Amino acid sequence: MATFNTIPNLPKALSDTLHAQQFTTMTMVQERSIPLILQGKDLLVQSKTGSGKTLAFALPSLMMTNLEKNTPQTLIITPTRELAEQIAVQIQTLAAALPNFKTVTLYGGVPLRNQANSLDKGAHLLIGTPGRLLDHLSKGTLNLGSIERIVLDEADRMLEMGFYDDILKIVSQAKNTKQRLLFSATFPDKIKTLAQTLLHEPEVISVTPEHHEGQIEAYVITTNNKPKTLQQVINLYKPNSLLIFCNTKADTIALAQRLQQDGHAVTTIHGDLEQEARQEAIIKFSNGSSPVLVATDVASRGIDIDNVELVVNYDLPFDKEVYTHRIGRTGRAGSSGRAVSLYTSGSTKTAYILDETKKLELDNTQSSRNFTIGSHFKTIALNGGKKQKLRKGDILGTFCKEMGLEAEQIGTITLMANRTYIAIDKRVLKNVLKMLKSVRIKKRKYIAWVVD
Ligand code: ADP
Ligand code: MG
Repeated sequence: MATFNTIPNLPKALSDTLHAQQFTTMTMVQERSIPLILQGKDLLVQSKTGSGKTLAFALPSLMMTNLEKNTPQTLIITPTRELAEQIAVQIQTLAAALPNFKTVTLYGGVPLRNQANSLDKGAHLLIGTPGRLLDHLSKGTLNLGSIERIVLDEADRMLEMGFYDDILKIVSQAKNTKQRLLFSATFPDKIKTLAQTLLHEPEVISVTPEHHEGQIEAYVITTNNKPKTLQQVINLYKPNSLLIFCNTKADTIALAQRLQQDGHAVTTIHGDLEQEARQEAIIKFSNGSSPVLVATDVASRGIDIDNVELVVNYDLPFDKEVYTHRIGRTGRAGSSGRAVSLYTSGSTKTAYILDETKKLELDNTQSSRNFTIGSHFKTIALNGGKKQKLRKGDILGTFCKEMGLEAEQIGTITLMANRTYIAIDKRVLKNVLKMLKSVRIKKRKYIAWVVD
């Protein structure tokens, strides 16, 4: 495995940031893609979820950006707003040491006008979803004339969502593009067609994972009583984090309610939630204040939720590729994971699961006490973030020194543009909220509330 330092002309600012994140060796897809991207080649890259594709395109894109020009030079197109946000965070982290590097995200659910204003101020890199990019193009608030490089991330997903024509329209408006990079977890025929249309003599990189099989232990259980079986699975593995997939929004909501009643600390994510609520669900899940997440497939793609110990398919998807993506949420970047699927006997659409997956037999005779997945933490929000120049250190400093909290009582701090989320020990929660009515952070008072 090659280290990042083998990349020719890697600026010190970037290598320091990688080092600070404890990224030393490149993943296979990074090792193979980065040098070719730096040579200006078009690429068609297939590599499984969790293999580090974001950095594979983000790092060379940053390296090739001319910071002297205040124009967008890279356009990243992604299927969903969650993924756009996730990529933006990764890129901002990576670019933290590059002076004045600016990214603008363009997706639906937030006002066009704000995004147009951000674009007016200038940016180096754009991340957007097809629909919103087209909105901006048709309104004349976005000009792709300066774009030199286009990245299609999760291209397979975009095609599944019916964005084929939209992608072509967007790309056709970026007339000065010199390089096109297409990233995908799978290689269905539709992707090959898109690649033939868009890419110029592409290098094809396909990374077949060597130890993929061992990384995720996948099991199937045949059951006609899913709620009971799910609790048995929880009793068996006692996971610290659990991601459960349902096929419909209604089932997601119903199951989350049921689990909540049983004492688990649960949150949900599905397509009907506003952008903010989706983001908050992901934050609560990632920071451990809601260690159980019940989701529809909105959450199964791209989103970088680390270290999910157990994925449960409460409902199996009808499409095997969707199944692969879902269980890819566990066992990411080298860690091992576990996935359990509940199969309803007789279901023909999901019978594919029976062929390759190991059957898990539950011991029904044992009446062990039900294990509940709880949390010591609750998440609070502050009405200020990066734009107000808040930093983690400021918050930790105020909470420990002025409010008298112990470091262990403060969990993950997540800074967004205009908001900060902080996991706080439940036992001091009330007190913290009370103190924040008068305590200032960096000379400013913030409004705080519990995110439920
Ligand atoms: P993909 O897009 O292929 O699904 P991501 O780019 O989201 O994968 O990366 C998955 C995880 O691996 C992320 O948490 C990321 O920070 C981490 N990661 C990426 N590259 C490296 C690396 N070289 N070393 C360690 N971790 C990495
Ligand atoms: Mg990805």
